[in-house]
Amino acid sequence: MKRLSLLFALLIPLHQPLQAEPMKVASLHPLISDLVQKVGGAHVQVLSIIKPGADIHHFEPSGKDIAAMKNTRMLFASGKHLESYLGKLSDSLGASVKVIEVGRLVPSVVLNPDQAIFVCCPAHAKNGIDPHWWHSADSMKRAARIVADALSEVDPANESAYEAGGKAAAAEFESLKKWAQQQISAIPRENRKLVTAHAAFGYFCKEYGFKSVPILGLSRESETSPQYLATAIQVIRENKIRAVFPEDQANPKVLTEIVRDTGVKIGGELVADGTSPQAHTFEAMLRHNVSAIVEALK
Ligand SMILES: [Zn+2]
Ligand SMILES: [Zn+2]
Repeated sequence: MKRLSLLFALLIPLHQPLQAEPMKVASLHPLISDLVQKVGGAHVQVLSIIKPGADIHHFEPSGKDIAAMKNTRMLFASGKHLESYLGKLSDSLGASVKVIEVGRLVPSVVLNPDQAIFVCCPAHAKNGIDPHWWHSADSMKRAARIVADALSEVDPANESAYEAGGKAAAAEFESLKKWAQQQISAIPRENRKLVTAHAAFGYFCKEYGFKSVPILGLSRESETSPQYLATAIQVIRENKIRAVFPEDQANPKVLTEIVRDTGVKIGGELVADGTSPQAHTFEAMLRHNVSAIVEALK
């Protein structure tokens, strides 16, 4: 009998870990992974399906990705039709994985129809909504609340921690917005035109008072027509553009030709899709982009 109770005393600690295991969740965007980890803290473990360096516009989940997601409780997507495969993916994951489109309730910026050829890819031009909502600090503040609510719904035991995490993240985004506004105030108003390679900066331009001029939109494609180049050069001259900004994943060939013909300045590379290996959190992306834009346009 004595020996038996000793055996139990040895076994019990193995079945009673001191801390609960973090809830496993998955994410389809590096910026969202960072946001969910910020809000969830030690209570969640985020599996990043789309990793820094990947192309969010042409991603398709592999069988291996789907198997990994099936092992989680929740899947956080960017939404706004960025993941055109989401309906199909949600079906194959089944009801045990709750899918959250974080951007769904974030106010949309509608793409300018004149800029339709400059969107990232035909799949995302379909509904006329710019899917790159995470360039705005206000959108990120709203997203922090959406993530906190979604985590609380699935894991109500930790609701107060998620609520606090969401509030802390929102406060951080607010102070980043103030920093960005202060930096951008160094740029004369007439210079606030943002020439980028694809129409990814609609939310950024709206938040910080820029005119969005995506003239290099086809630069990810291999072929660019002479007519396209002529139009781009005309737009630069008409808008008295001072600098153009390449992207981290763009093909620089078109850019080089435009610069040769117009003498326009090349600004630093911008992070357009939030997946740059050097900048894949909201803070790193915003600080990088604002610094590059202010440097070239002030
Ligand atoms: Zn796209
Ligand atoms: Zn994009």
